[in-house]
Amino acid sequence: MDFDLFVIGGGSAGVRCARISAGYGARVAIAEDRHWGGTCVNIGCVPKKLLVQAGEYGGWAEDAAGFGWTIQKGPHDWAKLIAAKDREITRLEGIYRKLLAGAGATVFDGHATLADAHTVQVAGKQVTAKTIVIATGGHPERPDIAGAELGIISDDAFYLKTMPRHVVIVGSGYIAVEFAGIFRALGAEVHLVYRQPLPLRGFDEDIRDAMQEALSVQGIILHPTRLPAKLEADGERRMLTLDDGQTLVTDLAFFATGRRANVRGLGLEQIGVELNAKGAVRVDDQLRTTHSHIFAMGDVTDRVNLTPVATAEGHALADTLFGGKARKVSLRNIPSAVFTTPPVATVGLTEEQASAMGPVDVYLTKFTPMRHALSGRRRKTTMKLVVDKLTQKVVGAHMLGEDAAEIIQGIAIAVVMGATKADFDRTIGIHPTAAEEFVTLRTLTRTTDLAKAAE
Ligand code: NDP
Repeated sequence: MDFDLFVIGGGSAGVRCARISAGYGARVAIAEDRHWGGTCVNIGCVPKKLLVQAGEYGGWAEDAAGFGWTIQKGPHDWAKLIAAKDREITRLEGIYRKLLAGAGATVFDGHATLADAHTVQVAGKQVTAKTIVIATGGHPERPDIAGAELGIISDDAFYLKTMPRHVVIVGSGYIAVEFAGIFRALGAEVHLVYRQPLPLRGFDEDIRDAMQEALSVQGIILHPTRLPAKLEADGERRMLTLDDGQTLVTDLAFFATGRRANVRGLGLEQIGVELNAKGAVRVDDQLRTTHSHIFAMGDVTDRVNLTPVATAEGHALADTLFGGKARKVSLRNIPSAVFTTPPVATVGLTEEQASAMGPVDVYLTKFTPMRHALSGRRRKTTMKLVVDKLTQKVVGAHMLGEDAAEIIQGIAIAVVMGATKADFDRTIGIHPTAAEEFVTLRTLTRTTDLAKAAE
């Protein structure tokens, strides 16, 4: 065999796995056909956060007046922002390449296909490897409606030549609400069309409520319980017709309606690597596919599609295969954040999930953050703890409010360790912060027991 390990896909999962495996002395090759660093670095988390931050400055310029500043908010230069973002992404992509080369991995720029269970065809070559890892990620998917190709997907949103003045976004998952916030903060009229009564299905209900209100307060025009029916073009304009017959005329129709695993053109079918019902690569809890020496991880397996999960899996697989330290990544209590303004962050179970297993004590608080007492901005913070009534363990922590992602990362350690409400209560707060609310929530809001209610 030419290599001990061939990794297909140079994103978060693949790069980590290749790098750590090479560090253990394995002969490693890795192929990438688009951008090193994958979705997160190039057309996902990283550039998205830069755009979110760009939007925040506009709000701060307005807030400053309440603190005595006279700041004139000028126009925003989209082309300048995108150029700055592109420079940073190019720098990061270069770092990813260097890391791989420095670790001693053989790097192929090109699309890799499995010729047989040990042979990979890439960049006009055929190479063999003992173990193969599929880490090809996913791609955004448009809904199945007439004219869907006239709308953009998140990949395109990072490369728009001009800032649209009017945007219609379909969906209310992570990507939809994040981009709604970005375009609104940069001055566009934004419409959000979604099929649920509340955005962010799967999140805690109180957070979903708070998010709906936060979107609305920013001036985003909400179209809940609506589906897109067809999209048409009139020159540069787009017309999105909804299922109630209403037509929204816009500069930009943006579909943020979910993602699909990148499995096409890999040759998986002919070697018997099975897919699941969602079209993602089926893996067991050791990331093994239905082929004993072919593994898969990250978004191509469509379990928990988050970068830190992908990197953790890449690292764990390298440790297991070449480091003599067999280990698995737990998919329980994974914190995550939605980078709206203000952001949402969460760890553990929602009230609904937890109370379906037994009684839970719920502690909920809503308040105006200190900064906005002076800024005059209408902005609320929501914080919530879900506590198992019997063990008093904190099984869920949820927040919508400024710095939520920074705060919940620390809270997640306590939740992963199994901290009880009493542990939270005996922790001294840092004053004055919003975070201290998590250790001073004394008043029980309610006790919920969906399990008992279902009996
Ligand atoms: P999500 O699966 O989170 O959301 C998809 C949205 O589109 C939902 O609101 C869904 O509605 C709706 N939808 C799906 N199909 C249709 C349809 N045919 N017609 C109308 N609406 C439809 O996907 P995203 O694209 O937002 O993000 C993909 C994943 O990427 C996320 O789940 C997350 O794992 C990851 N991500 C993480 C981020 C972060 O950590 N900050 C940021 C961005 C992405 P419904 O709820 O009814 O199904």
